[in-house]
Amino acid sequence: MKVIAIGRNYAEHAKELNNPIPIIPVIFMKPDTAVLKDNKPFYYPEFSTDIHHEIEIVLKVCKEGKHISEKFAANYYDEIGLGVDFTARDIQSRHKEKGLPWELAKAFDNSAPVSKFIPKSRFENLYNLNFKLDVNDKTIQAGNTSNLLFSFEALISFVSQYVTLKKGDLIFTGTPQGVGSVKIGDHLAGYLEGEKLLDFYVR
Ligand code: MG
Repeated sequence: MKVIAIGRNYAEHAKELNNPIPIIPVIFMKPDTAVLKDNKPFYYPEFSTDIHHEIEIVLKVCKEGKHISEKFAANYYDEIGLGVDFTARDIQSRHKEKGLPWELAKAFDNSAPVSKFIPKSRFENLYNLNFKLDVNDKTIQAGNTSNLLFSFEALISFVSQYVTLKKGDLIFTGTPQGVGSVKIGDHLAGYLEGEKLLDFYVR
């Protein structure tokens, strides 16, 4: 499986990092070794001194597809969950300055904690979902999917023009504003529509 991630999919977050609002989605990937499950602790890596949290809604792909039209894209994911797109912001900033790829900042081991997944049919409206990240019991990021720049269907359609989606692939759909640093000892809790799905420590 692979992790496909979307950058700058909430306008307020694009602004907070002084990035333009994208006209086409910003895409990057993480390998399967990035996935961290079961609320296991995240171990702070030695190569960075500025790891940021990015809470995101994650789609789980349920069947193989390429060149998917937006009209049929909803058939390609059946469950959603929460994930944290951990980012070595110091490395990313250096690479962005030079126009270099982001992999070292985004794709490192365990950089993608994911929660359990919930059937999307359980939600009345996928475009009015509240989600948030608490760090040490204080809400640091809060988002609502009504503010997505590119819908889940638009993302699936766009990505599948370039990369075949396979069953089990995960799509991180972008973070709302409020990204910031984590430190060793922090407790992270992620909520989707009030249900706590992520609950782990930085070690
Ligand atoms: Mg992100």
